[in-house]
Amino acid sequence: MHILLVEDDDRIAAALRPALHRHGMTTTRLARGRGAVDHLAGVDVVLLDLGLPDVDGVDVCREIRAVSEVPVIVVSARGEVDDRILGLHSGADDYLVKPYDIGELVARVHAVYRRRRMEAGPDAAVDVVEIDGVVVDLTRHTVTAGGRAVALTRKEFQVLALLASSGGAVCTRGRIVAEVWGRSWAGANRTLDVHVATLRTKLGRPELVQTVRGVGYRLGLPGGE
Ligand code: CA
Repeated sequence: MHILLVEDDDRIAAALRPALHRHGMTTTRLARGRGAVDHLAGVDVVLLDLGLPDVDGVDVCREIRAVSEVPVIVVSARGEVDDRILGLHSGADDYLVKPYDIGELVARVHAVYRRRRMEAGPDAAVDVVEIDGVVVDLTRHTVTAGGRAVALTRKEFQVLALLASSGGAVCTRGRIVAEVWGRSWAGANRTLDVHVATLRTKLGRPELVQTVRGVGYRLGLPGGE
């Protein structure tokens, strides 16, 4: 699950991110509200601080809601809890008052995520594949690794998407080449190998795309089956 954390306080962000990572989440952090709406690709839940230095968090929430159904949890300091609140009028899904318990935050994140998934219907459940901190969004065509956006070429993404949607099963070279390139040719295997090598480098997880000698490739956890 990938979290967009909009939080200007460095200390809070520095404490929160490792805690979220320990719960298997990845994060992107923005210290400003302006432009947050441009960082929604691949994001599953937004944690939005209301007290931001450049724009009002409530306005950021409205901007997000104007373009996306991504769940938003508004976070505010105690003094800010008034009728604005909660941003519930601005389309936020939930809110938390600082200081909050990390366990409660994680529970709320899972709750809004589950709720939105159920609203989206059962088919939406397979649109995002996460393995070892790499999140492949098959619908939005975005990839993040450890919370960082990874820029892939169209073919690189298609190779990764095919592997990611195969649930850890081996994809033969022939199948990958046929599905991604739509044809085969004498140098196809070599081209595929080059794409896989670039993918490994860009993801920063060389062991994630595993070679199955003489057969093809699969996605797997390091040292796992
Ligand atoms: Ca703040």
